[in-house]
Amino acid sequence: MTNKIRYFIANWKMFGDLKSLKSIDKVVKFTKLNKKKKFKLVYCPPYTLIYPFFEKIKNTSIDIGAQNCHEENNFGAFTGSINSKMIKNLGAKFVIIGHSENRSNGENDLLINKKIKSALKNNLTVIFCIGESNIEKRKKKTNRVLRSQILNGLKGVRSNNKIIIAYEPVWSIGTGVVPKNMELMKNIQFIQFTINQNFNFKKIKIIYGGSVSPKNIKDLNSITSLDGYLIGGASQSSKKLIDIVKKTFI
Ligand code: PEP
Repeated sequence: MTNKIRYFIANWKMFGDLKSLKSIDKVVKFTKLNKKKKFKLVYCPPYTLIYPFFEKIKNTSIDIGAQNCHEENNFGAFTGSINSKMIKNLGAKFVIIGHSENRSNGENDLLINKKIKSALKNNLTVIFCIGESNIEKRKKKTNRVLRSQILNGLKGVRSNNKIIIAYEPVWSIGTGVVPKNMELMKNIQFIQFTINQNFNFKKIKIIYGGSVSPKNIKDLNSITSLDGYLIGGASQSSKKLIDIVKKTFI
């Protein structure tokens, strides 16, 4: 990767309790020691840990994000839900929307589009996840799926100032299987092309997610069109996360 800022989005999924706060000490120290390097680390813990994480990182360059949000902009009678206004109020600046684990629980493109608009209204940066399943890949439907997720998910969105696309092939999430660089580059190019053809956006930021680890990061990092990584499993280990970031330093 070149001289641009690289994003490392740590998706903790449904892991972590108050004791886990201690485990990020090493990462906080690492970021302070490397503040001149061009990278942005964003922790996305479960909702319950957003504020404690925020308190812990507030004097550092690390940012906090949520893993999802409700589509309503304002407070309302939605038992059990949390919206982007509440997330923002806790100090978070980012939110992951459209993750395949939520799509597979029934989130469709229309709902995802509403969530994106609500998050943007509340001034959060959206990590918009897209990606094909294994069957779709085998049936050679990858481009069709990516195109449809992009067009429907971003329908009516006027600016990409606060949008980062996370290309996450579903078959790569939590499996240890990572696409070959050629395949990844082709799909990133297709995403860029689809955005350019259909939206009046500035150059879009695209990150990759799916089994990123200290073992494969060097190889992935040779893809210059990537702006960073969405890291699930490996991000819960401070050692692995630091290793991943370090290996991208030139
Ligand atoms: C994710 O949850 O978005 C993810 C990429 O997970 P993992 O790194 O564990 O594959």
